[in-house]
Amino acid sequence: MIGPPGSGKGTQAAVLAAKLKIPHLSTGDVLRAMAQSQTAEGLELHRIMTEGKLVPSEMVNKFVLISLQSKITGCILDGYPRNLEQAKFLTQNYQGKIQAIYFKIDKSLVAERVAGRFSCNHCGKIYNRYLSQPMTDTVCDKCGSHDFLFRSDDNLAAVTARLDAYTTETEPVVKYYTTKGLLKTLRADRSVSEISEELLSIVKSH
Ligand code: AMP
Repeated sequence: MIGPPGSGKGTQAAVLAAKLKIPHLSTGDVLRAMAQSQTAEGLELHRIMTEGKLVPSEMVNKFVLISLQSKITGCILDGYPRNLEQAKFLTQNYQGKIQAIYFKIDKSLVAERVAGRFSCNHCGKIYNRYLSQPMTDTVCDKCGSHDFLFRSDDNLAAVTARLDAYTTETEPVVKYYTTKGLLKTLRADRSVSEISEELLSIVKSH
């Protein structure tokens, strides 16, 4: 799944994984968990991610390959490959079939969607400081929890850096899979259900 931050690829990857009962590997989720550790590696990861930059490919390639090799059913890769180095690594080291799905959306639409995003740490409901606050500032509308979770890279400066990284490093991956004839494009500026229906039919016809 390839697309700019805020294109909805994470949401769709989770829906598709549940429908098809196949594993979903979000490299962002794995790296966020690794960045919690108070080791030199964890602190360095936290710094890179908070700045909205990409983590070195050697680190990501290693755990993606190990994870793919252990999954006989295949896997939904969400947020990987993120640059040409990773795309070529995947081609050279993975023998299974690859289908790239591109979540196409105007980049000017996504900054506001992502900046200010936060979620309930208890039930997962997603809010946005600019677009959809809970009715009471400190209480989740859905479950009543007071515990909210903010991603440290969801502020405007970091989102801008993530969009820049997307433009310079990830857009060439879209071209790479187009040239190989392996890319399908989805219009990502539609409702979650419209997109998931089309996504399912693309994947089933592959
Ligand atoms: P995401 O959850 O996909 O938005 O990723 C959050 C952050 O994790 C990114 O801004 C990067 O710092 C890092 N990251 C996720 N996937 C990759 C990847 N494939 N290569 C390098 N860095 C990544």
